Amino acid sequence: MKLFNTLTQSLEDFVPLENTVRVYVCGVTPYDTTHLGHAFTYVSFDALMRYLLASGYGVKYVQNVTDVDDDVIRKARELGMAWDELGRRETERFLNDMDALNVRRPDVYAKATEQISPIIEIVSSLIERGYAYESQGCVYFSVKHDPEFGQMAQAIGLHDYDAMLKIANERGNFPNDTRKRDALDFVLWQAQAPGEPAWESPWGLGRPGWHIECSAMAIRYLGQQIDIHGGGGDLAFPHHTCEIAQSEHYTGKAPFSRVWMHTGMVYQDGEKMSKSLGNLTLVSNLLKDYSADAIRVTLLNHHYRYPWECFAPDLAFANGMVNTFQQVRELVGTQNEGTDSLLHGRFVAAMDNDLNTPEALILLQQAAESVIANRDLNTGAEVLRLTGVLGLRV
Ligand SMILES: [Zn+2]
Repeated sequence: MKLFNTLTQSLEDFVPLENTVRVYVCGVTPYDTTHLGHAFTYVSFDALMRYLLASGYGVKYVQNVTDVDDDVIRKARELGMAWDELGRRETERFLNDMDALNVRRPDVYAKATEQISPIIEIVSSLIERGYAYESQGCVYFSVKHDPEFGQMAQAIGLHDYDAMLKIANERGNFPNDTRKRDALDFVLWQAQAPGEPAWESPWGLGRPGWHIECSAMAIRYLGQQIDIHGGGGDLAFPHHTCEIAQSEHYTGKAPFSRVWMHTGMVYQDGEKMSKSLGNLTLVSNLLKDYSADAIRVTLLNHHYRYPWECFAPDLAFANGMVNTFQQVRELVGTQNEGTDSLLHGRFVAAMDNDLNTPEALILLQQAAESVIANRDLNTGAEVLRLTGVLGLRV
């Protein structure tokens, strides 16, 4: 199988360290409900997990939930509820949406608030090794002390310090934080602000920064080097760039992940779909009008790596495809054990080519039409088996 590695900007033969593929995908910050952009990321990775399993690999899949951070605390204040109650409620809603879309649950679904001591251990070690420093109860990673910092940023076209700082500032960096030695330094441990949740640490009461939680969880549950690290495209920098720096300097081992995979942004009305812009297509709303299979097909009709814009006709088209698969189901029933090695081979070739799900779906649709026309039950059984690999429930 070939997968596109963001870090090398090339298609690489995928060879896991062991037969059980170790995968970490950055999860959600639970302060708002799941939109189509989230669903695109998690359904795409779900298709990858299912395909790896169908190909005979084992999979250990870890995802985090950032259950304490600035957004959770701010939103909870706005709503007049406790931050942990908001986190629990939104995590539950996210999991319900994912269950509805037939996304397999990760093997470990880990909360940031349950990683405090592994995080403290990594932060302490980074200070000892000279990559991080304490300042007024906060701890920062010092980018100037890391000559390798920014390899991932380079790969996606951020060629120098100024280019990195500009994007970091757009994505949550506070360049004017006077406790930092350098505007691009990022927080590993944040000192408690009045009224905020906090945990004991060698630097006083505080809470973890965002980037460090993913390093801590990936290392804790998967080991010092993993096979696949994924997430939304906007995480490549700064989030994953920071993860690489922390993880590799803590473990002394590189690469932290053999492959880095990023999903394209989903646009609506010409804008990136995001909470802050308010132009969200919520999964829970879509599920009122469309089946989970139709939503999955809509998502998988777009290659995971590219941005796309969601239009209503996409969903209608997907509905038509699902109807075709359902007609095959009616024809074939549930008992047929038939096979079609030619169709199987073409499906595998599409999926092995950087998880080309749009091509795989077209193959299956064409095969399904021919099955209906010719009452070809063997190929029909194969079509249904392969729609199952894509997580459809027809
Ligand atoms: Zn992450």
